[in-house]
Amino acid sequence: MTLNRRTFMGTVAAASAALTAPSVRAAGHGKPRVVVIGGGAGGATAARYIAKDSKGEIDVILVEPTRTYYTCFFSNLYLGGFKSIDDIGHTYGGLAARGVNVVHDWAIGVDRAAKTVSLAGGATLGYDKLILSPGIDFVEGAVEGWDITAQNKMPHAYKAGSQTELLKAQLMAMPEGGTFAMVAPPNPYRCPPGPYERISMVAHFLKNNNPTAKIIVADPKPKFSKMALFQEGWANHYEGMIDWIGEDFGGGNVSVNPDAMTVTIDDEETKVDVCNVIPAMKAGKIAEIAGVTDGNWAPVNASDMSTKADPDVHVLGDASQQGDMPKSGFSANSQAKVCANAVRGALTGSKVFPAKFSNTCWSLISTDDGVKVGATYEATPEKIAKVDGFISKTGESADVREATYIESEGWYSGMTADMFS
Ligand SMILES: Cc1cc2nc3c(=O)[nH]c(=O)nc-3n(C[C@H](O)[C@H](O)[C@H](O)COP(=O)(O)OP(=O)(O)OC[C@H]3O[C@@H](n4cnc5c(N)ncnc54)[C@H](O)[C@@H]3O)c2cc1C
Repeated sequence: MTLNRRTFMGTVAAASAALTAPSVRAAGHGKPRVVVIGGGAGGATAARYIAKDSKGEIDVILVEPTRTYYTCFFSNLYLGGFKSIDDIGHTYGGLAARGVNVVHDWAIGVDRAAKTVSLAGGATLGYDKLILSPGIDFVEGAVEGWDITAQNKMPHAYKAGSQTELLKAQLMAMPEGGTFAMVAPPNPYRCPPGPYERISMVAHFLKNNNPTAKIIVADPKPKFSKMALFQEGWANHYEGMIDWIGEDFGGGNVSVNPDAMTVTIDDEETKVDVCNVIPAMKAGKIAEIAGVTDGNWAPVNASDMSTKADPDVHVLGDASQQGDMPKSGFSANSQAKVCANAVRGALTGSKVFPAKFSNTCWSLISTDDGVKVGATYEATPEKIAKVDGFISKTGESADVREATYIESEGWYSGMTADMFS
């Protein structure tokens, strides 16, 4: 079957479904169909597991505009010089070989009554179950003076790829003794330790290439993930280089001027050479278009990641409002497996296992100085609830830190294989 035939049948089936029955399959479409929007940590994993485990019983279509997905995880290590850009790029050939129909296009509309998704290229896809994992978009007006048109002067680099390469180029071009600024985001946001691992990696690069340079961080939060571990690491490796300005010192009172390359923190203006603006975040726009968000995020049921708004629309990863899990690639991958199992069960009657989740976020502070925080979770009627957790300790030996870094390398290989192989 080609995409055109599927598209045609999906459209016809959806039209009949609207008249006769609630699902495309019920209208005589044949195999049940799952459409997954977004081929990142959540979406690629869900598409892969449904295709792999259903052994051809379910038609899986993955809609993703980019042909190479650059992982945000380890993108800070690229900034620090530990990875190349190619190390963090992955393509979709493995998923296609597994039988996932990978459509490189943007989803621009969802008609939940007709159970169809429309694509920018003009196609319409019918679905029995829809899985959205579109990641994040930025809240407009979150940082005074910045909008998406300023992202070339002041990159966010919070969606990996060209933005990450741009930030690295700017870092490399900094004048001797120059200033790197970061505007950190408010909670909740993608990857709680991400900004602080980035500061560590930027400091690592500057220490080796531009040791008199300075880093300032304007932060609207009074504290942040793994704060004691990062602050200890910054004192050990980068003494005097990093000035973190938290909420107590006006770190939340920030505006930027991308043309003048200035940052104003609590009424004090500073001329900077690089400014990494990471604005407040919300669910990727298509979740809002689908009508499954409430405020900035999409509330979901913990047992299967179905939305509170529609049992046939599931939301994974950063876009979801699920409870206690941090917005991370590991979390999205863990949620995707629970969702894939539940969706397969609903469509084919296969066994559904109780939902269990886990997450670990590793961060690299300096060469072989890795730290981690993690937890396990379970589904309750209200939310994904934390069961127990762990965190690296300050003062750990170099051997423990090196082992933690090596562990993160293993996780990256396993994770990307779980998404794309
Ligand atoms: C600097 C940084 C470091 C990080 N480090 C780690 C780490 O060490 N460990 C970790 O676990 N997590 C880390 N993360 C977090 C992790 O990258 C995200 O939490 C994870 O990618 C979320 O997965 P997702 O599926 O929700 O979104 P994504 O992985 O962003 O995938 C979303 C996909 O949806 C696509 N999309 C969006 N809209 C549409 C549309 N309308 N139609 C079709 N496709 C669409 C996008 O192109 C994208 O490919 C880091 C993040 C950053 C920024």
